[in-house]
Amino acid sequence: MKNIKAYLTQLLEQIQNRNPGEPEFLQAVKEVLDSLQPVLTARPEFIEEGILDRLVEPERQIIFRVPWVNDQGQVRVNRGYRIQFSSAIGPFKGGLRFHPSVNIGILKFLAFEQIFKNSLTSLPMGGGKGGSDFDPKGKSDAEVMRFCQSFMTELSRHVGANTDVPAGDIGVGGREIGFLYGQYKRLRNEFTGVLTGKNLNWGGSLIRPEATGYGAVYFAQEMLATRGDALEGKRCVISGSGNVAQFTAEKLLDLGATPVSFSDSDGTVYDAKGVTREKLEFVKTLKNIKRGRIVEYAEKFGAEYRAHATPWAIPGECAFPSATQNEIDEDDARTLISNNCRVISEGANMPCTPEAVDVFLEAGALYGPGKAANAGGVATSGLEMSQNSMRISWGREEVDSRLREIMINIHRNCSQTAETYGAPGNYVLGANIAGFLKVAEAMRDQGVV
Ligand code: NDP
Repeated sequence: MKNIKAYLTQLLEQIQNRNPGEPEFLQAVKEVLDSLQPVLTARPEFIEEGILDRLVEPERQIIFRVPWVNDQGQVRVNRGYRIQFSSAIGPFKGGLRFHPSVNIGILKFLAFEQIFKNSLTSLPMGGGKGGSDFDPKGKSDAEVMRFCQSFMTELSRHVGANTDVPAGDIGVGGREIGFLYGQYKRLRNEFTGVLTGKNLNWGGSLIRPEATGYGAVYFAQEMLATRGDALEGKRCVISGSGNVAQFTAEKLLDLGATPVSFSDSDGTVYDAKGVTREKLEFVKTLKNIKRGRIVEYAEKFGAEYRAHATPWAIPGECAFPSATQNEIDEDDARTLISNNCRVISEGANMPCTPEAVDVFLEAGALYGPGKAANAGGVATSGLEMSQNSMRISWGREEVDSRLREIMINIHRNCSQTAETYGAPGNYVLGANIAGFLKVAEAMRDQGVV
């Protein structure tokens, strides 16, 4: 194939026509395709054998009705999804998101990213994602339970420990995983590792709740080490205040850095004095138990609250976007750079727009894309699956050291791949190519399926 650029342009056009109204999916696919040019030049058989044409089409997409009854006795109907994108290197694996913004395009982008992320972990996991436009916010525990039971009643037909293993994501934490697991067990009469993120008492893994945030910090640590630098003493801007944000802050504190912000969909808290362990405990209780708003942090500790604002104008040497997709645009990226931010480690999935990524790369910042930087979560889910299969539980230190080792290996793999393909320091290119190669080779081995 002589003209790779023309092939990729045509493929992207075809994907655009086939998936109208799915901008996030197209954004994720375009980024990967753009990165793959050098590898396609070296390995034209990937084009000739239709690897890319197959890779951009999910193996299966399931959409279903989720009826449930609220506390007032009224019937409510949401939509449920599961995207089983690629099982080339293992059972489908990826989280469930419950958020009103959920639609098929968003889940396809997340499932597509997951293919490469899971490949980078070096564990045998394919790519998937699912969820619903259900909003757990403002619902009682009983309503969330009834919704989860209804959702799993349909989903149970499509998942299984060796088929597809969902986990949490936005709006799906320990409470939701518990309700989903209980219903699966009841329907199937089997106690298996069908979900990860389970509670410790019934098949969960130590460090799984912490893993995404800890991993994003370990990845930042590795990036900084390439410049002989460390996190100690750095001021760190964090967005979000959920699972990933909380454990990012925790690991930063362990390493002597200073988190200075949290946010939620209503606004941002800027704590110029720095988040301490005591303040972090308050956030955990506020968000995980009381299910309150982050403004209460500002009220409690006298920190500055910026209503309807994101944290990107806050000065800090490092940024950990940990809320949602496209939360940093080009202007935000320029503001971060002009405030001397030189490390961006993505806890969230695709939190930076393509223009923002360009700003970071042009400025020579250490930019760790989500599919590498936040892979610690799914990697530890993989470790949970292993423990379930072996019916054993590893200790906290063992899991944490495996997580640390996996993040070091992902960093090394991305970094070396970027160098091999002529773009040293470009973790986007490194992550996309390294993640792709393993999946592409597996697809070749398995024939046209
Ligand atoms: P949580 O539901 O625990 O927390 C999400 C946080 O982000 C909340 O503070 C929420 O605020 C905020 N947020 C969500 N959507 C928006 C929005 N549209 N605008 C502004 N703020 C928003 O989710 P997680 O911490 O688990 O997930 C955060 C990110 O990390 C997501 O991108 C997810 O895909 C990614 N991720 C998570 C993994 C995991 O293991 N959990 C693994 C890998 C990636 P509010 O409460 O107001 O909605």
